[in-house]
Amino acid sequence: MVLERVGERLRMVEPPVLAAAPGQLLVRVLACGVCRTDLHLVDGEVKIPELPRVLGHQIVGEAPDGRLVGIPWLAWTCGECEYCTTGRENLCPLARFTGRDVDGGFAEWTVADERFCFPIPEGYPALQAAPLLCAGLIGHRAFRMCGVAQRIGLFGFGAAGHVLCQVARHEGREIHAFTRPGDEAAQAFALGLGATSAAGSDEAGPASLDAAIIFAPDGALVPVALRAVVPGGTVVCGGIHMSDIPSFPYADLWQERMLRSVANLTRADAEEFLALAPQVPVTTHVRRYPLEAANDALDDLRAGRFTGAAVVVPDHS
Ligand SMILES: [Zn+2]
Ligand SMILES: [Zn+2]
Repeated sequence: MVLERVGERLRMVEPPVLAAAPGQLLVRVLACGVCRTDLHLVDGEVKIPELPRVLGHQIVGEAPDGRLVGIPWLAWTCGECEYCTTGRENLCPLARFTGRDVDGGFAEWTVADERFCFPIPEGYPALQAAPLLCAGLIGHRAFRMCGVAQRIGLFGFGAAGHVLCQVARHEGREIHAFTRPGDEAAQAFALGLGATSAAGSDEAGPASLDAAIIFAPDGALVPVALRAVVPGGTVVCGGIHMSDIPSFPYADLWQERMLRSVANLTRADAEEFLALAPQVPVTTHVRRYPLEAANDALDDLRAGRFTGAAVVVPDHS
């Protein structure tokens, strides 16, 4: 399923026969998670250097030796720059990303640099493992930036929120979910996963959270979240794109509140999170779509028509 032009639907094409170069794995795709970033790519809010492109960066597939491997957003880094050599390869200016700079997983087959592929933890079928690869591990990177915060607000309770809620509960922390106003299904879903409270983002109160993570792409939530955290609290923006942040009084940032973004992932993040997930254990709630219905999955994500994560599955028969 190929994006040929920004703003258009993905189109099913007969793919070229892929071959792995030295250092690459030819992977038979079994499942690929759908991420909000895919919407930003389709909409042109995140630029794609070269089209056409196969999107999809939460890939679980079978390597030639039969192993189940995961292929995340980070596809390649230079290994030599000041970021790569200081444990921050997520910020490498030459980094390539799966489903943006190289073809991704909305396909039957894909190739990937084997240094950026990860073994899928035992006990996770492909369908359930797919959302761990972005929602899970970039979500977890955002979660770690909250430090020792005990009361954590999640603004937007989708694929990342539903994974993080389980990790946070496992660590004995409180999750307070804020959804689109009136989204009772998402609020019930959050409570069912152990959230301490769930409400619309219009109901966020003043200064009682130790930290907040904003997964929804709505910049207007930034001042809302800042007002909801205590002095010294952190607000983490977990998405790759947000609408503009409205101006807000300095008093909302004052008292050593911190505002930061989280970008991409390092391979160490992937190793850490994929080791942690089975210990919790994280259970993902997925809605399955056949590969040819990838556009429906994107539409449903945009409209908020499901709880949990969407995953597309190719039919290899
Ligand atoms: Zn993603
Ligand atoms: Zn680099």
